[in-house]
Amino acid sequence: MIYPWQKEAWQSLVQKWENKPNAWLFYGREHIGKMGFIMEYAQALLCEKPTSGNYLPCYQCHACHLFSQNNHPDFYKISTDEGNEGIKTSEFIKIEAIRTMAEKVQTSSYLGGRKVVLIAPAEKMNAQASNALLKILEEPPAETIFLLVSHAKDRLLSTIISRCRQFSLPVPSEQEALEYLSTQGKLDEQTRFRLAFNSGVPFFTDDFPFELYQEFIKIMLQPRLLLCLEFAQHYESQIKTLDYFFDWVYKWLTDIILSKQGFEVKFNQTLNKQIDSEIKDKYNMQDLFALLSLVKQQARYKNHPLNVKLQIENIALEYLSLSIR
Ligand SMILES: [Zn+2]
Repeated sequence: MIYPWQKEAWQSLVQKWENKPNAWLFYGREHIGKMGFIMEYAQALLCEKPTSGNYLPCYQCHACHLFSQNNHPDFYKISTDEGNEGIKTSEFIKIEAIRTMAEKVQTSSYLGGRKVVLIAPAEKMNAQASNALLKILEEPPAETIFLLVSHAKDRLLSTIISRCRQFSLPVPSEQEALEYLSTQGKLDEQTRFRLAFNSGVPFFTDDFPFELYQEFIKIMLQPRLLLCLEFAQHYESQIKTLDYFFDWVYKWLTDIILSKQGFEVKFNQTLNKQIDSEIKDKYNMQDLFALLSLVKQQARYKNHPLNVKLQIENIALEYLSLSIR
């Protein structure tokens, strides 16, 4: 699937069709539709008769048929979520996955064409896996193209990056994102809110705990001790990780800081006026930055089995104390 905002990128990618590197590194923000684009490219690389001119896959040939059935024997996809029904089997891509792939690509291709290896997200390779991949890229097997995908390419080994040709994928404009969401029949109030909340990135899951978020905002607007404690309890009863909470606090504090600096808020756009008139003067810049840095610090341990309720209480009470200083 090539999304409307990726059309130019596709043209510039296929201009180099005859002069392809052994390894590409596709990078760009998270949730902008990178995988759709790259899967299309992988299919085109394997297609027996890509369309002349734009090199889109033909969708008709044997190879295309196998690819669309997830069954092409010369396509190897390595990712963190290879389990059944999209369940994450592991947080990292481990060396075993790279080794298995290496063995397969050393043999000749099943269908007589090229082989394509997709690694996504590439920054999830652990150190051993990265080193194993580097060895392969140093002596690339014949007729094999590697497609690395990353939204945090600074976490990749620089030696891996230097073996790849880099290709950046664009974020849609606000208009493009809204048009896309409307074609999906999803242009309600909540979706507009989430688009802004996600900095204009139109792909998000449907399970956002919206009511809990509204409860959170209520507390941020008017922090009260009992409400903070109740919220922590309520959050923990519904959600077992702190991902959402840290994301919300981070964005909320950032919005106040932006407002204090005279900018429009970035994430909670519907609250722009309220933050400007009622909130921003209650806090001083130094306190906000200190709390932001505490949140960032604690967010590093968000996947540890710490007490969710306790951590929320800590942050919420700290925020409360800033408003009454
Ligand atoms: Zn085809």
